Amino acid sequence: MRPVDLLIVDGTVVTMNAGRSIILDGAVAISGDRIVEVGKAADLRVRHPGAKQIDARGMLVIPGLIDGHNHPGHYLTKGLLDDIATPRRWATRLYPFDVSVNAEQSYWGSMGTFAEMIRSGTTCFSDPGSYQPEATIRAAVDIGIRACVTRSTRDISDPIRPTPDDLTVSPEGALAKLDELHAAWHGAGSGRIRIWYGLRTSFNVSDELCRLVKHRADELGTGIHVHLAINPAETAEVLKKFGMRPMERFRRLGLLDQNLYAVHMGALDDAEVELVAKTGTKVCHCASASMFGAFGCITHGKFVELAAAGATMSLGTDAASISRFLDLVREMYIVACAHKDTHIDAEVMGAHKAFEMATCDGAKALLWDDEIGSIEAGKRADLVLVRTDGLEWFPRPLLNPVANLVYSSSGEAVDSVMIDGRFVMRHRKLLTIDEDLLKQKVIEHAASAARGANIPEEQRWPVH
Ligand SMILES: [Zn+2]
Repeated sequence: MRPVDLLIVDGTVVTMNAGRSIILDGAVAISGDRIVEVGKAADLRVRHPGAKQIDARGMLVIPGLIDGHNHPGHYLTKGLLDDIATPRRWATRLYPFDVSVNAEQSYWGSMGTFAEMIRSGTTCFSDPGSYQPEATIRAAVDIGIRACVTRSTRDISDPIRPTPDDLTVSPEGALAKLDELHAAWHGAGSGRIRIWYGLRTSFNVSDELCRLVKHRADELGTGIHVHLAINPAETAEVLKKFGMRPMERFRRLGLLDQNLYAVHMGALDDAEVELVAKTGTKVCHCASASMFGAFGCITHGKFVELAAAGATMSLGTDAASISRFLDLVREMYIVACAHKDTHIDAEVMGAHKAFEMATCDGAKALLWDDEIGSIEAGKRADLVLVRTDGLEWFPRPLLNPVANLVYSSSGEAVDSVMIDGRFVMRHRKLLTIDEDLLKQKVIEHAASAARGANIPEEQRWPVH
């Protein structure tokens, strides 16, 4: 065994191992960036007498949470997209923003996203891609968060939805840009950054581009991040353009597979639920974004049925501007509860299922479960210490602590966050970014980005 340099002791360790063991008075032994042993604190203290000890009394030790779908660069549009129908939101806000945002703005917008994520216990995210992926990656490396990032990739242009690629785009050109990104950044940040392949949305990618991306992703062993089966409007558009439903089109193209990571998936029929389970296609559920933007994933989505069929599902916040928060504990509450209401059944989903989606199942969905998603020997030391001494945890703080966290607490209960064996937040202080500087930078860049994209910063009610 590698020499242990750190012991996190006397906490309640929620391992998320196959048996879902929870260890009272537990300890996690860490060597460098890895977990090397998990057990009772009394035993590990004896076995590793020279190791530095971190006191986790009164805290849960949980695996770092995984945000399965987030557009970090859209952070700067936060507060400018409220209560606007999706087509108008894109036409008048997000497309103008995507076309005009620069690398410096994307860097600070991404940094704002990551700082907020870390403060609520998120240690890993997956980005479907912007047109400034390098800026997002640089921010992720600098703050120390883990990520799967791709570039926004499409080859069917639409005058109502312009992108910076529209003048040059071809299937081969789009693939070349992904290849460049992979060659330059895959494995950056001591292996914390993985570059994926991407297809933006089912209606703006050609058959040829789909085939090229699938072939290359298989060759390199990466996932493919796509927005798919989002809502009835997307189904109608794909039916009109391609003569079949989005899932049927992707099935015929050979894309439904273990490395397809399909986001939203709120417009499936029963046969498509079976198809997802049979092919091992991964699903990301962005419940809060759907509720905020009215996609229909809660009312019409078949996430309860997907879970029953054995599909692997993660959770995503989508963007700071699109769900309006990045706290995965809040996200878990929605996923745990909203489907009970639609099914009029209090025994579907629930806190423990939602917690699996944010940890071990999220890791599986990102093809990274050999290294993250649970607290087990051999895995990366991505750990979150959560305080259980807030009044909302009482009178039974440690009876089903995961349910207490999801149903009664929030990301504010997160005390410390470790990624790759290094604390990035300790006692709620961020260690890899100056929070005051960050606030100043995001205010500045949000204002200049809104001006650049001609997005109004309007007060809803008269302000005197
Ligand atoms: Zn998205």
